[in-house]
Amino acid sequence: MRYHLSPARRAIIKKSTNSKCWRGCGEKGTLVHCWWDCKLVQPLWKTVWRFLIKLKIELPFDPGIPLLGIYPEKIMTHTCTRMFIAALFTIARTWKQPKCPSTEDWIRKKWYIYTMEYYSAIKKNDIMPFAATWMELENLILSEMSQKDKDKYHMISLITGI
Ligand SMILES: [Zn+2]
Repeated sequence: MRYHLSPARRAIIKKSTNSKCWRGCGEKGTLVHCWWDCKLVQPLWKTVWRFLIKLKIELPFDPGIPLLGIYPEKIMTHTCTRMFIAALFTIARTWKQPKCPSTEDWIRKKWYIYTMEYYSAIKKNDIMPFAATWMELENLILSEMSQKDKDKYHMISLITGI
């Protein structure tokens, strides 16, 4: 993942006075603001949490979990981590734009991670860990996709082939 300096940090480095959020919300652009607190980023995180609840994963709504990887015990971290990585990529993609990172982009990113892991599993000739991780997720991701996207990206279950 690409590393971004937060505007506040960057302002110190460049000795400029502009340390406002790059999305233009008017708030101070601290690291936690840009990745989590910003009102333009919050809707995506709420979507991520709703998705986790559908997977029966209940986590406190806390930035330390996706940003620092601090998990409460007994949580399926491998599943959460993939969802969070997809969200962070989606946020980074619209980093300097005054808009919300989109749910559709997040879903497509999840699918991308899923296909990459699939081909890597095929290459290693070891599909079982992949299937165990993605079985439930795959159905849920597919159920979220529009038919248009499914047709466009030829999205079918790679585990069952339907
Ligand atoms: Zn902001």
